[in-house]
Amino acid sequence: MSSIEQKIASLRDELREHNYKYYVLDQPSISDFEFDMKLKELQKLEEEHPEFHDPTSPSLRVGGAVTKNFETVVHEHRMYSLDNSYSKEDLEDWEKRIQRILGDVQVEFTCELKYDGASISLTYEDGRLVRAVTRGDGFQGDEVTTNIKTIKSVPLQLKGDYPQKFDIRGEIILTLEGFAKMNQERVEAGEDPYMNPRNTASGSLKLQDSALVAQRPLECLLYSITGNNLGIKTQFEVLEKARQWGFKVPTVAKLCKSTQEVMQFVDYWDTHRHSLPYETDGVVIKVNSIQNQEELGYTAKSPRWAMAYKFKAEQVSTVLNEITYQVGRTGAITPVANLEPVLLAGTTVKRASLHNADQIAKLDVREGDTVFVEKGGEIIPKIVGVDFLKRSADSKPTEYITHCPECGTELIRKEGEAQHFCPNDTGCPTQITGRIQHFISRKAMDIEGMGSETVELLFKEGLIANYADLYILTKEQVVPLERMAEKSAENLVNGVAASKSIPFERVLFALGIRYVGETVAKKLAKAYKNVDALMVATQEELVAVDEIGERIAESVIRFFAEPTNVALVERLKSYGLQFSLSEEQLENQTDKLKGQTFVVSGVFENISRDELKKLIEDNGGKVASSISSKTSFVVAGDNMGPSKKTKAESLGVPIISEQEFMEKVSA
Ligand code: AMP
Ligand code: ZN
Repeated sequence: MSSIEQKIASLRDELREHNYKYYVLDQPSISDFEFDMKLKELQKLEEEHPEFHDPTSPSLRVGGAVTKNFETVVHEHRMYSLDNSYSKEDLEDWEKRIQRILGDVQVEFTCELKYDGASISLTYEDGRLVRAVTRGDGFQGDEVTTNIKTIKSVPLQLKGDYPQKFDIRGEIILTLEGFAKMNQERVEAGEDPYMNPRNTASGSLKLQDSALVAQRPLECLLYSITGNNLGIKTQFEVLEKARQWGFKVPTVAKLCKSTQEVMQFVDYWDTHRHSLPYETDGVVIKVNSIQNQEELGYTAKSPRWAMAYKFKAEQVSTVLNEITYQVGRTGAITPVANLEPVLLAGTTVKRASLHNADQIAKLDVREGDTVFVEKGGEIIPKIVGVDFLKRSADSKPTEYITHCPECGTELIRKEGEAQHFCPNDTGCPTQITGRIQHFISRKAMDIEGMGSETVELLFKEGLIANYADLYILTKEQVVPLERMAEKSAENLVNGVAASKSIPFERVLFALGIRYVGETVAKKLAKAYKNVDALMVATQEELVAVDEIGERIAESVIRFFAEPTNVALVERLKSYGLQFSLSEEQLENQTDKLKGQTFVVSGVFENISRDELKKLIEDNGGKVASSISSKTSFVVAGDNMGPSKKTKAESLGVPIISEQEFMEKVSA
């Protein structure tokens, strides 16, 4: 081994160990800074020495590879559901059924928590993660390996004496803290918060860009192993072994000798689960002996040797004082139940969402009613019913509002949509302040010295009516306002001025065009280079841009068809905001690939897929996701999909290697 190779290997080992200590054991032994320095060093060496590439390198954790279509993979061992039970009696019945089959043997049980996330099956060969597949319908699922590799608690390389080949199953979850933080960032960016950790975790697995997955605080909790001749005798041993090989396995699992002990575990966690860092929806009880499990076998959909005990969603009743209506930045109306404060699952609840008019009608919920409030997977509690016995005789059915509570405009409801909308997007105060708040937010113009409340104040005082007005604010106008001082007014005005250098793509995002999020804004900025070109783009041209679909294209066209929006953009331009790519961004661009369309497939040696795509676009070429007669070249790396290969060959599209591509752009 050369000394460079040794250095790379030892850095990888070191980083693996630190990842394990941090993400699996929760016991870091070096600072984040030191970790980053080591990672950077590794990345640099790997870049300089691609010959030492390793698909399990900790440097892959940052993601970058993009999956356009997730391939369907048949599970070698089926992923079953679990039967549910809800009471001690259910459990005793189950135990009787088991004893009838097994005869007179002493049965032990392993109790684990039932983690509420998305199930995943990981295949390891020779200690390396080779595949990760979602549950799908239990028989086959989607291959999401690239995304799973970014989850730091999933080992890419195992330790200890692991079997040569096995599947391990677990649950991908988002911790409550991580979920709350993600939502806070979304709200700051003017995006709707996610509903609950479970759906968000499962949605994350199917994101195309693994770099986005890498940013999400996902974790993987493991609970079962399947394979041939594993030499493991009990479920409890499975958990211990998995832990030794480097997997994250919660330690709350308990070995129980009787259903009575099982019930103690269930009762304990039913009341203590809210102190866990993640959500659980029950307990899973498994017959401990693998031999017993094999004897018991499976029904059509679940193992006879396992049972889920479902916690009851916590429910309380309280009085609904008033129904109010919120208007979002896009004009969507959300009815909100304002409740007599009540303690539920460890927090005080004052408000609950009523979703929309249909929901109110379905529940027949009215002001003054005593209602049942429940906290399931959702962060925002919901109203599940009305205590009709407590309804007073003079109660009147709820009449949904017909006009906007903020501006008085008559609401509309489009065919097939559940939500009412206020169509007055240019005059409705909440929509106006909502758009300005989005404009100044961190991921958009990032205006320092200004927050949501300042926007409301400035608007109320008549100093701003849209985001362009921010740029003509003076210190003298701001100082006299409530809670403003000389210094804060100065910061505000300076912050606004400083935002003039924010790059084009973020300005585009800040404009608040519906469906144009951060990523889409980047794509559009790159494809059109300046706002003037974008303003006159047609639907056809827009959808030809990689990742831009009909819905986004329509929204962009609708935005620029509105004269007030065009006027705003013109004003912002006159104040000196960036409405085209910078010299530097343009300098790296050529016309070498003009008129050519590329499809990128497989894994590359010296460059990530994203970088390759960027190179194509920077040189004037287009990236398409599927091969057609219009494709000029397919750039193929390792593991190019066989169907793509056949298709390219049958259409006579040339397949070129990474090297051949590089020659094209460097020539
Ligand atoms: P269900 O989807 O209700 O049929 O429940 C079965 C699912 O529970 C499995 O597919 C797993 O994803 C999930 N699960 C969560 N925690 C566990 C655990 N400790 N053991 C087994 N399955 C679990
Ligand atoms: Zn309105």
